[in-house]
This record gives sequence, structure tokens and C-alpha cells, in this order.
Amino acid sequence: MAKLKNTMDVFKLLEKTNCRKCNKPTCLAFAAAVFQGRIALSECPFIGEDILKEYGSKKLEYESTFEQDYIKVMGQLKDRIKKIDLESRAQKLGGKFLNGRLTLKIFGKDFSIDANGEISTDIHVNPWIVPPVLNYVLSSKGISLTGSWVPFRELETSRDWARFFEHQCIGAFKQVADTNPFFFKDIMELFNGRPVQNHYAADISLIIYPLPLLPMLICYNHPEEGLKSDLNLFFDSTADKNLPIENIYTLSTGLANMFKKLAKTHG
Ligand code: SF4
Repeated sequence: MAKLKNTMDVFKLLEKTNCRKCNKPTCLAFAAAVFQGRIALSECPFIGEDILKEYGSKKLEYESTFEQDYIKVMGQLKDRIKKIDLESRAQKLGGKFLNGRLTLKIFGKDFSIDANGEISTDIHVNPWIVPPVLNYVLSSKGISLTGSWVPFRELETSRDWARFFEHQCIGAFKQVADTNPFFFKDIMELFNGRPVQNHYAADISLIIYPLPLLPMLICYNHPEEGLKSDLNLFFDSTADKNLPIENIYTLSTGLANMFKKLAKTHG
């Protein structure tokens, strides 16, 4: 029987209409519940017999915790790092190589990796940052930036992720920007945000660099008479050549969730 490895694997099998006939608010919530073994795939009435035959109609046994998965993934990434030449990757990735370490600027701060995949850095090492950085070292094509900004949904490989991104990332950023007056100040101070002028006629435009070849442009318009506020994120058109799309998603949503937490701290 085929194995469902994560929530996204389940989600790909669904109609994605959010019709709620399974008593879950969205298909994504249903997919997460299936992956965690709380309900069976067969509880979505639109799943065909062929799919149930392939993946099974009973509840999955939830085999591992997030921590266990994370440790496993990190071990695999470090093993792959051991096999590559960090020095030759450094220049391609917009980094430096010194004393056996590849150093990249992550949000403007040093993040170093040695030949065993061990990390030293000035930034707080959040779980949502490290796997994307190691994947960047392993798989970035090192393509120079074009300066052409596109929304996430226009990146070539974004198809399966675009709707999640709209909700989990842009929605979260917008909610924080609308309610927290410190939002843009925090981006500037904590993440080395740089203001830019006249991008898409936005009231506020900032660029941050989660990775050297992965800049992110945040544009925000304040609400005005009769018009709601508006927030958009843009990436260089090369983004998914320099980092796999799932890692762009992870980085962006990790950042959005961090801002939600910061907003709570600010009260
Ligand atoms: S019933 Fe199926 S299609 Fe409808 S919301 Fe649930 S998972 Fe999505």
C-alpha cells in the first residue's frame, strides 16, 4: 500500500473545494487530521475507490512526532552536506568560505556551516529556518537575480502551494500589519529590512533577504476611505530556481508566524 508522507501528500488527493462535507472547515484541516491519524481518508465523500485502494481507507497510524521528523530530516540534510564541496558552493550562493566554513547572510546576519553540516550563527535558530538554509546550500542553482518581482503564485513550481501561501502567509502578514503599528519597525530592526521607493505604488515597500539569492519584497497599502488595506509579497522571478518551492513556503510562513508572536508580545 502506498504511503502518505506528510499533510501535503494527503491534500494533493482532495478536491480542494473546502465544501465542509467532512465536517472540517477546509481541505487543509482535513488533510492534517488524516495525516495525524485522527480521521480516515474515506471520510471525504469525494475520494474515489481507486485512491482508497492505493492508500487505505482506515485511519493512519501517526508514526512520529514533529520533533522526531525534524531530527530525521536534519540528519539526512547534514549527511548530504558532508558530501559536497562547500568552498565551490560559496561563491555560487552569494556566500563566503573561510576556515572550513561556508558563511551566508540570513536576514543580514552571519550563518555558518562546516563540512559536517554543523551550524554556528548569531541568529536565533528556529526550526523553520535551518532546513531551508541547508537545502539552499545543497540545491540552489545559484542563478543571478533578475530584479523582476513576481507574486508567489507566478513562480513556476508554486501550483500546489499557492492557495496555502495566500492564506497561511499573506493573510497572516496582513493581519499583523493591520493591527500592529510596530510591524514594519520590527522588520527593519530584527530582519534588516530595507525600505524601497515606489514599488507598485504601495504606501510602504520593504525588502528583506532571508537568503542571499532569495530577496522578498513586502508592499503594504493602508486602508483608505472605502478601501481595505492591502498587503502583497513578491519574489525575484528566479526564486524557485534558487530554493525549492516548499522551502520558500516554509521560510515565508515561519516568518509570518514569528510576526504573529511578536505582535502578541507587543500587546
Ligand atoms: S469533504 Fe473533501 S473536498 Fe470537502 S472540505 Fe472535506 S476534504 Fe475538502
